[in-house]
Amino acid sequence: MEFKPSYLRLYESGELDERVEELYNILESCELCPRKCGVNRLEGEKGFCEAGKKLMVSSYFPHFGEEDPLVGIHGSGTIFLTHCNLKCIYCQNYEISHLGVGELVSEERVARMMLELQALGCHNINFVTPTHYTPQLVRAIRVAAEKGLKLPIVWNCGGYENVEIIKLLHGIVDIYMPDIKYSSSEVAKKYSDAPDYFERCKEAVKEMHRQVGDLKIRNGVAYRGLLIRHLVLPNNLAGSEEILKFIRSLSKNSYVNIMAQYRPEGEAFKYKELNRRPTRDEFMKVIELAKELGLTRGLQDKHLFWRWLI
Ligand code: SF4
Repeated sequence: MEFKPSYLRLYESGELDERVEELYNILESCELCPRKCGVNRLEGEKGFCEAGKKLMVSSYFPHFGEEDPLVGIHGSGTIFLTHCNLKCIYCQNYEISHLGVGELVSEERVARMMLELQALGCHNINFVTPTHYTPQLVRAIRVAAEKGLKLPIVWNCGGYENVEIIKLLHGIVDIYMPDIKYSSSEVAKKYSDAPDYFERCKEAVKEMHRQVGDLKIRNGVAYRGLLIRHLVLPNNLAGSEEILKFIRSLSKNSYVNIMAQYRPEGEAFKYKELNRRPTRDEFMKVIELAKELGLTRGLQDKHLFWRWLI
């Protein structure tokens, strides 16, 4: 049976246009993320994320470095959005998130990018850091749907989400891919200026799971569901145990990629406790914990033995 992405049903019924309008209205007093800056983005005002009215894209290409079920054979059709609503001080894409590297583009241009990626055979459209551009991206999806887009949308976000906005994405996004970064509010405040991170993240991820369920994979390629990422920080700064318990509480079939690739970037050198990679022991402790909790889907530990050899 051929896969039909959710947004095509909303497009055919006309509801996608209503969602675009509803989301655009929120830009007048921006509450797209839990910071709720209240700025009028339509009039050019900017809040914490520094994103304006127009989309800004830093790059787009078939990505072969994402999780296997997203990459498949032909890659994940990745579109990197500029700016960020979290701005972690150690961001691994600091130039894009903090320094605003990218190009202003129209929604029609982003729709064409999606169609180009589809023509290259990519298995999905993977929006990286989309939260602060939700209305513009949904409108771009609408334009692309009209022109024949039929790939599932991956919402690859930092996890600091306004649950009311996630509700408006119901029936548009097929694959949610949030980070869950911290369980401690002190740590979230210190590195991302978001003391309510874990609370807002849990609300949003529960809603994502309610909409799409556990990750579903056919012929090695994901087409719907929730894929969670968790980056292990040195000195257990992420508070991984509490995060894994939350993920387990969603479902024992939760798909979670526990990531080892943290390295000091951006301003991390200013913080002694962040200024090194996690050790192999620190990483394996988190993996073992996941296994003890019964979480097995998505663990990449078998492929990572080389990580500490370089
Ligand atoms: S998306 Fe940006 S402007 Fe809107 S509430 Fe979040 S940080 Fe503020």
